[in-house]
Amino acid sequence: MSSPKSLPTLRARGAPLASPDAQRALLRSLPIAREFEDALGGPLRATRIDVMQINVGKLCNQTCRHCHVDAGPDRREVMSRETMQLCLDALARTDIPTVDITGGAPELTPHFRWLVEQVRALGRHVIDRCNLTILETPTHRDLPEFFAENRVEVVCSLPHYARLSTDRQRGDGVHERSIRALRRLNEVGYGDGRSGLRLVLVTNPVGAFLPGAQASLETEWKREMKQRHGVSFDALYTITNMPISRYLEWLESSGNLQRYLDALVAAFNPAAARGVMCRSTISIGWDGTLYDCDFNQMLEMPVHASAPRHVRDFDRGLLEARTIELDRHCFGCTAGAGSSCGGATT
Ligand code: SF4
Ligand code: SF4
Repeated sequence: MSSPKSLPTLRARGAPLASPDAQRALLRSLPIAREFEDALGGPLRATRIDVMQINVGKLCNQTCRHCHVDAGPDRREVMSRETMQLCLDALARTDIPTVDITGGAPELTPHFRWLVEQVRALGRHVIDRCNLTILETPTHRDLPEFFAENRVEVVCSLPHYARLSTDRQRGDGVHERSIRALRRLNEVGYGDGRSGLRLVLVTNPVGAFLPGAQASLETEWKREMKQRHGVSFDALYTITNMPISRYLEWLESSGNLQRYLDALVAAFNPAAARGVMCRSTISIGWDGTLYDCDFNQMLEMPVHASAPRHVRDFDRGLLEARTIELDRHCFGCTAGAGSSCGGATT
């Protein structure tokens, strides 16, 4: 990644890869050693639903170069309060323990705080996927206190503890603002290991390679974040960059695409495949459409036709019996130690 400047979204630029069909066609045009289903040895089935992941929209205050959502300030797709209510109705009919709220920058969605409070009122655990810089904007400066009051687990993306690597991927000045936000989360009790206010950092490689070993990176990050920035946190998740959306465009334009896909295919790990998150998650889009995961959501691949495809028709039994929709991007979840919204899967 050569420049620290962020680009407008694919959508705003009218880029061909703004189309999910074009992204899948590009991936399918490449010669690879074997298809994902051949590597698996057959179809993949869901097992249960432990996590309801709600993507409340594509609006974001950042335009990171690797974004798999093609999120940015120009995007207008956000979940309405009516669709949030349908999610809450589905949740109330089940005992799904965790609601994972993502975006975009989910906190920019108009009814975000109401959604968090309603999920908490149902007694469920809430995860917020936070880009950190949103906490530095004037209208969201009180979010650390809001999160603490509602016992929200905050999972924050930060590509690297060093400034240059983070700013290369996320834009000039993002690292400094992210560190300030982390310090404020620490001030209200996040990441102290005692308060129960869990603070997780998520790192993804800045370039065309797989992440390093999660356990050893966590040790290194805890040391470096404390020494360099005075910041404490509970856990580090390593996530593989998915070859879709803006990262796919960068791979292609930098001449890295074939090599990166070959590396994912070569690193296929059957143990990682058994733990892919789609087997225990249902992903809901801003308009209420149901998907196997956030990546399938961005590729506009809804759940299998044998299952309900909108949250208004949510049926846990049918969804837990569904066959997962797969394509070549799925190699991103099964390479090496595996990758999911909860980090490595092995
Ligand atoms: S990666 Fe996250 S913070 Fe960056 S543009 Fe995408 S949604 Fe926003
Ligand atoms: S991309 Fe989605 S559907 Fe494919 S393996 Fe990963 S989590 Fe499952």
